[in-house]
Amino acid sequence: MIPLKVYLKANREKSILKRHPWIFSGAIQKIPENIQPGSTAAIYSSTGNFLAWASINPKSQIAARILSWCEEEEINEAFIHQKILSAVGKRKDSISSEESDSYRCFYTESDGIPGLIIDIYHDQLVIQITSAGAEYWRTTIIEACQKITGVAGCFERSDEDIRKLEGLAPSKGVLFGNNKNNFVEIEEWGIRYLVDVQKGQKTGFYLDQRQNRKKLREYSKNRSVLNCFSYTGGFTLNALAGDCAEVISIDSSKDAIFLAKRNMELNSLPNERDNWVEGDVFLELRKFRDSGRKFDLIVLDPPKFAPTYNSIPKATRAYKDINLLAFKLLEVGGTLFTFSCSGGISTDLFQKIVQGAALDAKREVTILERLRQDIDHPVPLSFPEAEYLKGLVCSIQE
Ligand code: SAH
Repeated sequence: MIPLKVYLKANREKSILKRHPWIFSGAIQKIPENIQPGSTAAIYSSTGNFLAWASINPKSQIAARILSWCEEEEINEAFIHQKILSAVGKRKDSISSEESDSYRCFYTESDGIPGLIIDIYHDQLVIQITSAGAEYWRTTIIEACQKITGVAGCFERSDEDIRKLEGLAPSKGVLFGNNKNNFVEIEEWGIRYLVDVQKGQKTGFYLDQRQNRKKLREYSKNRSVLNCFSYTGGFTLNALAGDCAEVISIDSSKDAIFLAKRNMELNSLPNERDNWVEGDVFLELRKFRDSGRKFDLIVLDPPKFAPTYNSIPKATRAYKDINLLAFKLLEVGGTLFTFSCSGGISTDLFQKIVQGAALDAKREVTILERLRQDIDHPVPLSFPEAEYLKGLVCSIQE
C-alpha cells in the first residue's frame, strides 16, 4: 500500500527537527480530508525531505501527532505492541513493589503513542484514549495490554473533555475482565486504598503524587496537619502513618470523603486524630484564619486551576489566594507543601506566585525542597509539555 504523504508549508519543519511531537494544522500544506481520522501518514518538508510518521486528524488543531522519526519504521500492530511492551518494562524496572502495586505504565507522548494513557491498579488496568491516532489503534492496544500485563481486567475512562477537540465521543466501560463493583484495592508505601476506577477523578487515583505523599510522612511527626483538597485521603493517611498529632482534611467532594473514610477503616488507623470537612477550601481557610487557628504543616494540592491558557490569570489569583491564607495559618517553624498541576503555570511562575503570597502574608519563607510528578510520568527534553505537576516544600522562618 502506498503510504499517505503529507507536506508541510515552507520552513515549518523546525519543531519536528527538534523532535517535538505535534504538528498544528496551520503548518500543513493540505490536510487530506477523506481519510479515517487517526490514519498514519508520512510527513515531508516542503522541499520533499522525510521528517516523520504521524497520525493524522483533520478534525483537530493538532493535525498530526508523531509516532516515529525513522523512515524505515513500519507503523503496524507490532509497532504498537512494542511501544507498550517497552513502556511497561521500564516501569517494572523503576518502581519497586515496596513502593506500590499501582503506577502509570504508559504516559502518552512520553512513551511514544500520543493520546494513550494506561494505569495499572494492582491487577486492573485503566485505559484512557484522547487522540484519534490512539483511537485508530484501539483494538491492537487492548490486545497488547492484555497480553503484556496479564491483568485480570481492564476499564476504559476515555471520558475527558479533550476528546471533543479530536472529534471523538466519550467512551467508558469495562473492556475485559469482570470487576463487578468497580473498586480496586491498591497498596502504596504500605498503605491500602480503594480506587474507584469507574467514577473516581482522573483514572481513579493521583498516581503522580506517590513520592510526595511519602515525603509528607517524613515531615509529619507530632505536628498538627491541615490537608487541603484531600480527595480520598492520600496525604492524610501518610500524615497519620508519620505519627502526626492531628490532621484535618478538607475536600468539596462528598464521594471523595466517603472513600477517604473507608480507606481509614481499611488500614485500621486510629480515628481520634483525624477530622474531615466537606467544604470549599477557599472558605474553610478563611474560617480558620478568623478563628485564629494555627497549624504546623499544611498541604495545598488543588485541582487544575488553569486547564487552558486563557484561564492562567484567574488561576494565578486562585493559587495566590490559598497560598497567602496558608502562610497566615502556619506557625513559625511550620511547613507548607504547595502544588500546582496546571501545565500552563510554569515552575518559575508558580514560585513567583508563592513568593507574592508570602510577601503579602508578611512571612519570611525558605524553600526546603522542590517536588514534581513521579517517575512513571516521564518528561522528554524535547516535549516539556509533559511536565505539569510542580511543588514546593516551604519553611516559615518568622
Ligand atoms: N492530594 C490528593 C489529590 C487532590 S485532587 C491525593 O493525593 O490523592 C484535588 C481535590 O480537590 C479533588 O478531590 C476535588 O474534589 C477537590 N476540590 C476541588 N475544588 C475544591 C474546593 N474549592 N474546595 C475543596 N476541595 C476542592
